Order: sequence, then C-alpha cells, then structure tokens
Amino acid sequence: MKKRVIILGSTGSIGKSALDVLDGLRDEWQVVGLAAGSRGRELAVQANLYRPEAVALANPQANTTLRENLSYRPEVYVGPDALRQMVDEVAFDCAVCGVVGAGGLAATLRAVELGRRVALANKEALVIAGSLLMPLARKTGATIIPVDSEHSAIFQAMQAGKPDEVRQIYLTASGGPFRTWTTEQMEGITVDEALNHPTWKMGPKVTIDSATMMNKALEIVEARWLFDLRPDQIGVIIHPESIVHSLVEFCDGSFLAQLGTPDMRTPIQYALTYPVRRPCPAPRLDVFATRQLTFDPPDVDRFPALRLGRKVAERGGTCGAVFNAANEAAVELFRSGTLAFCDIARHTERVLSDHDMIESPTLEQLLQADRWARDEVNRCTAC
Ligand code: MG
Repeated sequence: MKKRVIILGSTGSIGKSALDVLDGLRDEWQVVGLAAGSRGRELAVQANLYRPEAVALANPQANTTLRENLSYRPEVYVGPDALRQMVDEVAFDCAVCGVVGAGGLAATLRAVELGRRVALANKEALVIAGSLLMPLARKTGATIIPVDSEHSAIFQAMQAGKPDEVRQIYLTASGGPFRTWTTEQMEGITVDEALNHPTWKMGPKVTIDSATMMNKALEIVEARWLFDLRPDQIGVIIHPESIVHSLVEFCDGSFLAQLGTPDMRTPIQYALTYPVRRPCPAPRLDVFATRQLTFDPPDVDRFPALRLGRKVAERGGTCGAVFNAANEAAVELFRSGTLAFCDIARHTERVLSDHDMIESPTLEQLLQADRWARDEVNRCTAC
C-alpha cells in the first residue's frame, strides 16, 4: 500500500517543489489532498494531474474558478477553515505544511493532534505556537520534521549524536541582497530590490524576510522549539554561498554540517523519506566548483531583526505570536508602499515592547495576541 500525503499550500513555492519530489517517489507515495489559498485555477490544474480525493481552498472568491477548471469530482472544501477540515476528514500519513504565515497554524495543529508525520515548512506555526505544538506532538506521537533548509540541516546533523551532546548550533544565513549595504543605502530600499534574492528562489514573503533578516530571527525561535535548545545555544553566521545549510557543534568539539545546492527539494524529500535517503531531483553539488566557503558574524546594528529574534526566543509566551504578526503586517505595508524597508523591524520592535506578555498562553490567547499585533502595526502607521 502506498503512503498517503496531503500538501497544504500546493500552489506556492514549497508545494510545487513537493509535487516535483513526489513525482520521483510515485512507487511509494500517493497525493490524496491538495490545498491552496486563492489560486483556484492553478489548484484545479494540479488536481486534474494528481487526482487527489480532496482539494481545499481558503479563499471562497476563487471557488468558481476552481470548480470550472476541475475535470473530475473530488471532495472540495472551501473557506477560512477549509485546510483544517481537509486535514480532519482525509486519511493521510504525512502532511507537507507549506502555507506561508499564520494562516497555516490551525491545519498544522490538527495534523499534529492526529499524531501524523508533519513535514513542516510553515515556520510561523512554530514561532507562534511552539509552546503548544511540541508538547502536543510528544503526546500524540506526531513526528514534526523540519523542511526549512537550515533546520533540516540541523536535524540531519543531529542524527550523529544525542540531543544532550549538542553544545551549540549555527544557523547559516545568505545575508540577503543587502548584506554589504550601508545604513544610509538601506533606508531607500525598494520593493523590487527586496524581492531579488541572490541565492534562493522563494515566495515573496520569505524573500522580504530574508532581506530584513527577519527570516533568520524567526528561525532562531523555530529552532528553540524544534530542538528544545536554550536561546544562547543558537548562533547565526553569514554564509553568502548558501552551500552549508547549517552546523551542529557537539560537546567533544566536533562540528557536523549538511552541504548541498540551495534547492528546497532536498529538505522536502528528506522530510518525506526520513530515515531513508532516495535519489532527489535537486542538482548535485559540484564540490570542485565550490572554490571557497566563507563564514562571517552577522551585523546586528544593520539587521536589528536578529536581536529581536533572540529576545523573543528568550521570553517565549505570547511574544512569538506578536513578533510574527507584527512582521507579517509590516511586510504587507512595505509591499504596498506604505512603509519603508527599515520600518519593518522598527515597527515590529515597537509593537513587541508595547505588548503585555502572557507566559503560558492558550491557543485563543495566542490568536488574540496575533490580532492585537496586526492592529497595532496598522493603527500606528495610519497616524
Ligand atoms: Mg530557512
């Protein structure tokens, strides 16, 4: 019997790469559910090809387009709760969670609640609700395997030792397109410049987060929950070549790293096939063409997001939800031309410092903190 996989966010960058990986694993896996946000036509095209039992669409406005373009009759879930509903009602072995932002949380939580394997690319789910997701996974037996390339690298390197033998981890960062820009130059950054990432091809939200280094800040918080580490055990190093995807230092002084071409299909496939390895469609790394690998400390003055990420990882509670939501709202305003590039971190920091933290929040309190932070960013930029 083939294993059954559902893909949340199938029309996005991670979703498309996941389908590409699954093309090579057809002997073992079967796509049984596809879910998207608002790209109804694209979802229909994918569904017609993979013939899943069910499709889900978060935005009801795209419902007509979806149905008009479907050439068969799968179960269709539509609306803000559609992804969670599909997770709930379709039998599956693994869910690939490639939804961007807070929108993926409810479906991810449900998949963990059901005790399944979760290939998690949606870092925001952990940033917001790591304090709920990780204990829940331990209780239900769900296996959360990171798809984020750095965390996949750490996860792979950690197979070489025991968790309590880890001294420190280092998340590598390309540094984004503004790695060498001065503070003055950075004030005038345009949306097009921020959307132009030097090494990774990703969706627009992650690309802008990479440019501000918010992405790395979110990844610090993500790592804290995934690997149960103290924040001071999580370092960041700038590695512009994006060949070393992260490093683990063990207590005996040995470092283990995972290297490869910067291609998300490698971590996506590993999350599906773990603990087994299979040939992957990602291009092979030419070690002889790799003339040098450089590692530099990050500049937290030019990229204040990193300082914020560390603070959020230390404080925990509702801070992750506020941090993520404020950043999401600020990125939206930057993309629409309302906020300057450097204001993204400024507003996120301000909202964080105005926030009254709850130490052990419930899901409702986390969602409330999320809404409050978004309102706060929008309110203050309007005045
Ligand atoms: Mg990453």
